Amino acid sequence: PDVAAKIAAGEVVERPASVVKELIENSIDAGASQIRVDLMHGGLQLIRITDNGCGIVAAELPLALERHATSKVERIDDLEHIRSLGFRGEALASIAAVADVTLLSRGRGAEQGAQISASSGQILPVTPAASPEGTTLTVRNLFSAVPARLKFLKSRNTEVSHCHHLLEQYALAYPEIRFSVFSDGRQIFATKGDGALSSVLVEVYGLQVAEQMVPVHSPEQEDAERPVISGYTSRPTCYKSTRQHISFFVNRRWVMSRMLTAAVEGAYHSLLLTGRHPISVINVQIDPTFLDVNVHPAKTEIRFLKERRVFAAILRAVREALLEQPQ
Ligand code: ADP
Ligand code: MG
Repeated sequence: PDVAAKIAAGEVVERPASVVKELIENSIDAGASQIRVDLMHGGLQLIRITDNGCGIVAAELPLALERHATSKVERIDDLEHIRSLGFRGEALASIAAVADVTLLSRGRGAEQGAQISASSGQILPVTPAASPEGTTLTVRNLFSAVPARLKFLKSRNTEVSHCHHLLEQYALAYPEIRFSVFSDGRQIFATKGDGALSSVLVEVYGLQVAEQMVPVHSPEQEDAERPVISGYTSRPTCYKSTRQHISFFVNRRWVMSRMLTAAVEGAYHSLLLTGRHPISVINVQIDPTFLDVNVHPAKTEIRFLKERRVFAAILRAVREALLEQPQ
């Protein structure tokens, strides 16, 4: 395959978990209420994501694998109002540049399914194929043609745990989606999809910890510029290992941010709760025009136009959640 495609792929596809992330986002964008993930040998041998989303009609299957073909952003102004997780139209093309990909799909209401495969960057013709409604994307032999990348990967277990952690994050962000995750045939994670964040907390952290979490919410939104905060944070009496587990979702996009982490820690510190390791799940809803999600094709980074407001809103909401709780 062509060198430029492989280099571009390197930006998006670092390890099995980066493939899982892109595929999960596509399933979520497709409106799936059930997503199943299968990994074989840490995803290096096989990653398969099955969803019951809107599917892709046969005629559009080749487009799905083409670079910069996206069905999600119509005009450049749309970038300001991105509601979908994907919008670059390069994930599937990038994955297909470094793995063997099969895309099997049946659109809602379509009588028949169809499938397309790409092997070593070569796209094969679409063929009819039996498929439930929704999409099954199978990625085999990831990086087998990119030995330099393979060399940097860790053990099978490390790759599984990266995928597992990532899927936990998406499950926390989408409690209404039923996730099930299998590694080498064994189920390692599952959620009910009942819409309650509290029930996902049980699956991720266990009942004991989940019972020690208190709801976080900001006061009613007064103006469009003010972010709305919701989620859960652990009671100060709750200890979980020595690591903190703070997850952030901005408009339901998983992000990592030192600034947001500092806001949560600031709330604990302001109550003189130092030396603790909070567990928190914080959702931030904000007018998308105050965001720049277009920072890096794959990294979970985000830029806020009014960072201090977001910081202050989180600190306040977490602080109040802790204060409201009887100890
Ligand atoms: P993007 O998500 O940025 O649009 P991708 O390369 O991830 O780009 O996907 C390309 C296109 O393939 C999407 O725009 C969408 O139309 C289609 N597609 C991919 N995965 C799915 C899926 N699971 N269900 C329905 N459509 C999908
Ligand atoms: Mg995508």
